[in-house]
Amino acid sequence: MAEKQERTVVLVKPDGVKRGLVGEIISRIEKRGLKLIALQMVWATKDQIDGNYPKDEAWLKKIGEKTGKNYQTYGLDVKAELGTDDPMEIGKMVRQWLIDYMTSGPMVKMVVSGIHAVDMVRKITGSTMPSEAEMGTIRGDFSVDDATAANRGKRAIHNLVHASGTIKEAESEMLVWFAPEEIHDYKRAEEDIMF
Ligand code: GDP
Ligand code: MG
Repeated sequence: MAEKQERTVVLVKPDGVKRGLVGEIISRIEKRGLKLIALQMVWATKDQIDGNYPKDEAWLKKIGEKTGKNYQTYGLDVKAELGTDDPMEIGKMVRQWLIDYMTSGPMVKMVVSGIHAVDMVRKITGSTMPSEAEMGTIRGDFSVDDATAANRGKRAIHNLVHASGTIKEAESEMLVWFAPEEIHDYKRAEEDIMF
């Protein structure tokens, strides 16, 4: 069993904290059988958020392209709205909006472990865009934002929660948010029954 265990970082973003959804979000993760192994409230610095999100060209381009496509879908002129249609430049812009959003209030940061924890938490979290997220997911059940509204307001999409996208992302995010001694392991009562 041990080799299938993964660890992943979950952040309840400032909108989730301000809306009183911390308990609801943690509860969904715990009930699924995933284990909380680190937990704390933090008002992040811009440097911490900078460290949390990748800044390589591929990531910036991907997020810039995604944003550009969204403008197309809704018949909007990306260049007129944002002053550029270069995916890299748009990616950098979205990243800056993200830093502003994630430092606009306290967050609750945690590390979660379990079988396929990275993918399982992403599933519980739902699609990046709340307006497209499935019912039954955190974003689908509790948020309504969409990219057009967010881009128009020159702000990040408000989607309540961050969850690492890959094992590699999780490893680097854990270093940003927790010292090794703040991450604990213990046995949950139902482990003997569930596995
Ligand atoms: P996630 O892993 O599902 O959170 O999504 P990404 O890693 O692709 O993006 C990180 C965060 O940036 C998202 O959670 C949103 O808050 C924000 N974001 C992503 N795409 C867009 C976009 O097209 N426009 C705006 N305004 N924000 C975005
Ligand atoms: Mg991501």
